[in-house]
This record gives sequence, structure tokens and C-alpha cells, in this order.
Amino acid sequence: MGTLVTVTVWAEAASQADGALTDGFGTIERLSARLSHRAPHSDVSRVNAAAGHRPPVTVCPELCELLEAGRRFGALSDGAFDVTVGPLVALYARASRVGRFPADAELAHARSLVGWGGLKIESGANRVRLSRQDMALDLGGIAKGYIVDRAVEAMRRAGATAALVDAGGDIYGLGTPPRRDCWRIAVRDPAAPSGPTGAVLPDLVLSLIDRAVATSGDYERFVTLDGKRYSHIVDPRSGRPVAHMASVTVIAEQCTEADALATAVSVLGPDKGLALIESLPNVEALILHKAGGRLRRIRSSGFAQYERARA
Ligand code: ADP
Ligand code: MG
Repeated sequence: MGTLVTVTVWAEAASQADGALTDGFGTIERLSARLSHRAPHSDVSRVNAAAGHRPPVTVCPELCELLEAGRRFGALSDGAFDVTVGPLVALYARASRVGRFPADAELAHARSLVGWGGLKIESGANRVRLSRQDMALDLGGIAKGYIVDRAVEAMRRAGATAALVDAGGDIYGLGTPPRRDCWRIAVRDPAAPSGPTGAVLPDLVLSLIDRAVATSGDYERFVTLDGKRYSHIVDPRSGRPVAHMASVTVIAEQCTEADALATAVSVLGPDKGLALIESLPNVEALILHKAGGRLRRIRSSGFAQYERARA
């Protein structure tokens, strides 16, 4: 997954906790090898390499399930979330190496290769196809959340009574740890120095029980083009990288949903993003938005139920 994963687990017996850890990490390793677009032989890489060709590529059922979820969040967000965004992500990766914004023609070409229409999913047969050459899947906005969900499921099956899985900010808290009433989660301060040890918001702790939380932000991974800083999240509709958002934290019942929605809201911006969150049951968000040199906090109507004072 390209990130450090931390797993904490409780069970009735130490042997069960061991088993749950083995199954949780086993699931993470198996799925990240299949779903990464960077590993050359992953299912995603094979689909990308075969873009524009027949027949469809046979993949693991998990990839079909994940792509169906991706398409659902694409529809919900009016195309702001799009797992076929690969050509645009690759364009900005190249542009960031020379530090210059891509030329209009290059941008138009990459944009023309992005869109749901060209993604064919045959879920029953576990086959996937991209209709045009040079189209490319990029699951960076949803795969981590999905893998966290599958790992939690495996750990629960193995007898975990409480667990916390943290995949670089995509987190699920199962049950409650002994002698505590919830899992307590800090939120990264997007205004603090970047890097893996960046500071957290001093006055905010989230309390989670059987809930997922995911944060998308431009503090960790960003690109600098013509001297201006942009997010690694791209708006598939304009083809331009997101520039206005500091971070989006989403709480949901599933980490897949939290991950995808945090990315989608980053693209949509605070107004439309908040409207999307409010339209969904059991989903809440905290948007940290840069406005006039200050960081504004925007909360969805039910977000406060997850906030605790820092003890
Ligand atoms: P992270 O938690 O690693 O920062 P995010 O969940 O914020 O990741 O998603 C960002 C990643 O999603 C990008 O690096 C890219 O791989 C992919 N991505 C970028 N733009 C979009 C988009 N509009 N829709 C879906 N995925 C995207
Ligand atoms: Mg995401």
C-alpha cells in the first residue's frame, strides 16, 4: 500500500489475538499486492497494460467489488471521484518532476482518457476491461480503505473482540479496548510541518466504536508546479489538481466509504462536499479549509457526536 500499517488487537486468548494478527496482516499483504497500480504484476497493472485490447482481464473478486464501489462513489459525487483518473495522475507526476504545469494539449489528451464509460466490469465472471488504449485505473483514493475493511473482517472472524487498524490515516476502530469506552483518534493538523511526524490538532480527539475514519490532505503528498503547491488529488472534470483544500476527515461505517468520500469531498470543495456528506446516512465530515490565510473548520451536522475533549 506504500504506507506503514499499524494493527492493535484484543481477543479472549493470546492465541486468538495472534491468529487475528496473522489473518489481518495476511489479508493486507495479499490485497495490496493485487490492487496496487505500481506493482507490475498486480491485477490492476494487468488491466492497465491490456487497456484497449480484448479479451477482458480475469481478476480477483475483490477488485471487481472495489471497482463497483468506486463507480458508486463516482455516481454519488457527480464524477468528482473517478478510479479511471490514472492518466491525469501520471501526467501530474511527470509535470512535478520538471516543476511545470502541463501544456494544454497534454492536459486535454489525458482528460479525454478519463471516465467511467470506458470501464467494463463483469462482476459475475470476475473480468475487467478498459475500452481505450492508455486508459488507466488508479485506486489510490479508495484501495487503502477497502483493504482496511477486509483486514478487520478477517480479524473479527479470527476472534478479535476489539481492534484498531491504521493504514496511514485510513483507520477502523472495532469494538472498544478493555478499560476504555472507545478508540480515541487524533486528527493531523494540516497547518503543521509536513512529514510522518506532523503535529495533530491540539484540541480535537475523535471517539470511535465500530466506525472508520479517513483523512485526505495535501500536507503529506503534494506537487509544486510553476512555484504553486497543489494536491495529489485531481478533479477529473477539469483535469486540474485540487488547490483550495487543506484536509477532509470523513467518519463512516466502512473505511472504503470514508476513504472514497474524503477524496471526493476534497475535489468537490466545502459547499458541494458538505452537501454530499449531509445527503448520506451515518456519514460525517470535518473539512479544514484555507480561506484568507486562516484555517476554517467546517463540520457536518452530526460530526460533534464523535468529538471528545482532550484529556
Ligand atoms: P492518501 O490517503 O494516500 O493521501 P487519498 O485517499 O487522499 O490518498 O487519495 C489520493 C489518491 O487518489 C491520489 O494519490 C490518486 O492516486 C488518487 N486520486 C487522485 N484524484 C482522484 C479522484 N478525483 N478520484 C479518485 N481517485 C483519485
Ligand atoms: Mg481517499
